[in-house]
Amino acid sequence: MLEDKHPSKTPISSLGEFGLIEHLTHSFKLNNKSSLLGVGDDAAVLEFKNTQTLVSTDLLIEGVHFDLSYVPLKHLGYKAVVVNLSDLFAMHATPSQITVSIAVSNRFPLEALEELYQGIGLACKNYNIDLVGGDTTSSTQGLIISITALGSASKEKIVRRKGAKENDLIVVSGDLGGAYAGLQILEREKAVFKVNPNSQPDLSSYTYSIGRQLKPEARGDVIDLLNSLEIVPTAMIDISDGLSSELLHISKASQVGCHIYEEKLPIDPEVLSICEEFKFNSTTAALNGGEDYELLFTIDQKDYEKIKNHPLLTVIGHCADLKRGNQLITGLGQQIALEAQGWNSFAE
Ligand code: ADP
Ligand code: MG
Repeated sequence: MLEDKHPSKTPISSLGEFGLIEHLTHSFKLNNKSSLLGVGDDAAVLEFKNTQTLVSTDLLIEGVHFDLSYVPLKHLGYKAVVVNLSDLFAMHATPSQITVSIAVSNRFPLEALEELYQGIGLACKNYNIDLVGGDTTSSTQGLIISITALGSASKEKIVRRKGAKENDLIVVSGDLGGAYAGLQILEREKAVFKVNPNSQPDLSSYTYSIGRQLKPEARGDVIDLLNSLEIVPTAMIDISDGLSSELLHISKASQVGCHIYEEKLPIDPEVLSICEEFKFNSTTAALNGGEDYELLFTIDQKDYEKIKNHPLLTVIGHCADLKRGNQLITGLGQQIALEAQGWNSFAE
């Protein structure tokens, strides 16, 4: 597929390593005060005043974390940045810089890397982030991308997984299960395409879910909202592996039990209909789907009035004594123990 998309192919070897770096990064300008020196020297120079510095990094491997047969490189670049920003937002921090390291095989022409960097550039623009460095090397086969995000927060504002107390409310932003539903559609279309390359799929009734999979956003808007409502969550995490798995992280770090209600789980109508089509339980998609990059946090009950009925936020349950375990309470009042079935790189 890469070949088809790039009729005019420029081998990356024709630019050399330094020419390639220069070509891919010259249009990136520094916009944040904390970015003193960016790409082009042996190290970037940053200066964060009166704040604590936060660092988060992610590694993405072709064939393990992404499939280029249906993920456009521009989307991949965008998503690779966003997933890192999401980790910083989950600490209640403001991201400001990234470094991008790539390993590429000569199967990728320059035009493919330009697309990847267009996506990276768009994410930088949308989230006001500076690209300040990285590394470039060759790979014998697939594409590998590692992004590190840096940001800052005042000491009092940093929110960890630890800190939730009994009776705190459990809140989630946006809706859940969409990225998983989108992935099911993309995998199905890939299988259809293999059998019949001329098929023209009609994906118009799946656009929301496919968008959630291919072009997720990090919830900086939710952090802005919490700031404007003067709410500091007691604990917070972003939902990358699925709600269940993240709740268990909060439970373990905070030493509380998490009780959530099935009927409160926010699920988009399109996701419900995809689950129906695939004969898949939508609650399972919301609990275990992953890659939604929503924020999951706990707040003191006194803050309830500030968030109630807000369209971005849903209270899905509360924290209880750890001894009572982590539970999903179904519409029929059954209690089901929450288990982590999230993405595990080391599972068979
Ligand atoms: P070194 O040999 O010291 O590792 P490089 O030649 O790899 O230096 O990098 C030169 C400059 O280009 C550095 O500022 C580095 O951070 C930046 N850089 C290298 N690769 C990338 C990349 N893929 N994306 C953005 N910046 C990069
Ligand atoms: Mg280097």
